[in-house]
Amino acid sequence: SLAIAMYPVDGLGYEALSMCADTAMYRAKQGGRQTYRFFTREMQDRTDRTLQIENALRRALWLEQLYLVYQPQLAASSDQVIGVEALIRGQHPTLGLVSPAEFIPVAEDSGLILPVGEWVLRKAVSQMALWLKEGLPLHVMAVNLSAIQFRQANLPELVSQILEEYDLPPHCLELELTEGVAMDNPLAAIEVMGDLHARGVRMSIDDFGTGYSSLSYLKRFKVYKLKIDQSFVRDIACDPEDEAIVEAIIGLSRSLGLRTIAEGVETQQQLDFLREKGCDEVQGYLFARPMSADEL
Ligand code: C2E
Ligand code: CA
Ligand code: CA
Repeated sequence: SLAIAMYPVDGLGYEALSMCADTAMYRAKQGGRQTYRFFTREMQDRTDRTLQIENALRRALWLEQLYLVYQPQLAASSDQVIGVEALIRGQHPTLGLVSPAEFIPVAEDSGLILPVGEWVLRKAVSQMALWLKEGLPLHVMAVNLSAIQFRQANLPELVSQILEEYDLPPHCLELELTEGVAMDNPLAAIEVMGDLHARGVRMSIDDFGTGYSSLSYLKRFKVYKLKIDQSFVRDIACDPEDEAIVEAIIGLSRSLGLRTIAEGVETQQQLDFLREKGCDEVQGYLFARPMSADEL
């Protein structure tokens, strides 16, 4: 990896130039190595922003700047809400609302994902327990899990402990994992998933179809549901290839005895197609956006 900083635009002395080159070097490595990057101002801005987000995350855990929103998941055939997915949000004093797509990677790079992830689990489980006590007809609370959390040695124990703490039956919790989590080290994944499954917790594969799932492993993971990625759902009704992919995923799940949920459903046309093909569940703006616990 090579990085290039230019005198005099990037800096007048060795110190300044070397710092710029460092920033560019980080990008070259991020870009997959065997490459080079010229330093640009935009890199500096993004580094500053990343630092700001990281600092905020360190404080946010204490200052309650993080909160969860919930998006309903419905049965495709009846329009009944059967579950919700918890999605994290961060309110930053100067950056405003920061999306998880931006701050989850920062949390992962800085190791903060473990306390943040545990906080999410606790919050979501306690909210679900409360809703059940209030008599809401929900069956499942889905929580996103980062690959780093999944590799945490005591994850199954932690999950059980949190469920016990709030007296929530394990089958009411569903952990959403991406294909990458499972495929990084399939044998280890089979073990952890087996453990969680034995504890009664459900697991689903998020963004299914965008990674490289090995179909032979899929059978051995104790997953319960496949989430069809929204990129395929988006182009239903205009791209025959995406329609074919969606149909194939539904067929595959069926024959493996898994459920399917389509995410990012925005139009009636998409819903009609999914119903016709036998997709079990749906989630998306057509029904509801993610919302606060009170609104839900
Ligand atoms: P995801 O798990 O694939 O979540 C679905 C994303 O699609 C959410 O974005 C949701 O708000 C959005 N969405 C839902 N319905 C529609 C729709 O009809 N149309 C469109 N265009 N979008 C829709 P969000 O909340 O910004 O989350 C982005 C990603 O951040 C999530 O993708 C997930 O990977 C990650 N994330 C969110 N919360 C957590 C968390 O607590 N822990 C971890 N590790 N990751 C999280
Ligand atoms: Ca998800
Ligand atoms: Ca997804």
